[in-house]
Amino acid sequence: MTNSISTDICIIGAGPVGLFAVFEAGLLKLRCHVVDALPQVGGQLSEIYPKKPIYDIPGYPSVLAGELVDNLMRQIEPFHPTFTLGERVEGYQKLDDGTFRVTTIDGTEILCKAIAIAGGLGSFEPRKPAIERLDSYESGKGVYYMVRDPETFRDQRLVIAGGGDSALDWTIFLANIAKEVTLVHRGTTFRGAADSAEKVQALHEAGRVRLVLSSNVTHVHGDEALEAVTITANGGDTESLPVDSFIPLFGLTPKLGPIGEWGLELENDAVKVNTLDYSTSESGIYAIGDINTYPGKLKLILCGFHEAALMAQGIYKHIHPDKKYVLKYTTVNGVPTL
Ligand code: FAD
Repeated sequence: MTNSISTDICIIGAGPVGLFAVFEAGLLKLRCHVVDALPQVGGQLSEIYPKKPIYDIPGYPSVLAGELVDNLMRQIEPFHPTFTLGERVEGYQKLDDGTFRVTTIDGTEILCKAIAIAGGLGSFEPRKPAIERLDSYESGKGVYYMVRDPETFRDQRLVIAGGGDSALDWTIFLANIAKEVTLVHRGTTFRGAADSAEKVQALHEAGRVRLVLSSNVTHVHGDEALEAVTITANGGDTESLPVDSFIPLFGLTPKLGPIGEWGLELENDAVKVNTLDYSTSESGIYAIGDINTYPGKLKLILCGFHEAALMAQGIYKHIHPDKKYVLKYTTVNGVPTL
């Protein structure tokens, strides 16, 4: 039997921007159903960096990504959003009355008056280095492409590989948790933020991080679980290093997924929007957060929050073309419940 849900807005993506859109829509008394392909809410914050502090959320000098997601969930409670998690949205159909039927891979259908795409990077996959038998140490056997919980690596001997922000940030963070951290980078300069590179250099000089530059991890060894890696210098010299975990951090390959086939106007794999209300080229379909693009776009959480506020008003006008929208402060009106 088809699971059918009826709501005002179907939000695709339970990342921070999709979650905050529930709040902004709720202030306008619009109900939301949120769908995410991942089994948990929070998008990149839960999947990639739940234990990392974020410093550029207004009003929070520092907040752990996972904590921000928990707070967003608390903030939207009064609006009783409903969720379908662990199901990827595949398609949609525009019905004769201008409403939509959104469908997931498992056959759930959401009948709604507007669609808000907050799909972030889409379905994202880590870029894996071409190392023989690397996959045999996945699933908790010593090879990790993301750091979900830094505690996994407490008192371990770690090798991190990469030269971007993730590799630098996790090297700094895990230096306080792991027994030994070796950062292997194929070049001599880092692509990541200069101040992070300086921090790694300072940790190296203090003897807390080992830096192996102009080198790559080329082999992995171990019977059941990972036991050692071979590091090969660009000149050909090799070194075998005993390790508990190897964390290659070469970024994610963003895949727009099925939404890329919806016929919406795209640019560089992102959905083009009108910044008046973040509407797409299809009336009634909106896109906010990392998945959209417009001149001056910044892929930041706070920008996505702003987009959610303007989009909610745009959707209100789309659903109620005859009603006049009056801005109401939450300090004056409080938070209505739905
Ligand atoms: P996402 O968080 O990507 O969530 C999108 C969700 O949509 C995902 O859960 C995905 O599964 C789901 N989805 C996609 N397609 C479908 C589909 N077809 N069906 C169902 N579900 C779907 N930003 C900052 O502002 N400050 C920072 O300090 C900061 N640090 C960062 C550190 C790292 C390591 C990374 C990777 C990013 C960082 N960012 C930071 C960027 C920030 O995480 C993103 O801007 C933010 O996550 C975007 O939120 P979103 O809700 O648009 O998308």
